[in-house]
Amino acid sequence: MIKKTLRCVNGCGDMAVTLYEGVEIDTCPECKGVWLGNEELKHIISTEDEAWPEEEIAKVLEKTGKAGVPDDEIHREIPCPECSALMPATNYQYSSGIIINKCKNNHGVWLDEGELDKIQIYKEHWSHK
Ligand SMILES: [Zn+2]
Ligand SMILES: [Zn+2]
Repeated sequence: MIKKTLRCVNGCGDMAVTLYEGVEIDTCPECKGVWLGNEELKHIISTEDEAWPEEEIAKVLEKTGKAGVPDDEIHREIPCPECSALMPATNYQYSSGIIINKCKNNHGVWLDEGELDKIQIYKEHWSHK
């Protein structure tokens, strides 16, 4: 299947398809944002082939446990690259402290730079406890 080229939701321009842990994802070369289809996200969080540095883990976990979405994130309007519907900001898994934008038509999620790593760290930490 040939993927169509998507535009970055931050208005940078075309995104490029890159490989992340064996999965093709759309990444913006400018702002380093990432667009993930639902299947791609599921696949990435179910593979654990990276070891995260301790300080990186500590930084992510410091922010967890807070439910809700901060004001500056709530007012950000990000259109889905597939259907252009505005994607509301949500707190990943309710209280991870990682704010992502999810298409209400279920196309996928938008992650800003570094958020994909955060989700993986969060997920791996809690699944090992
Ligand atoms: Zn961008
Ligand atoms: Zn959509």
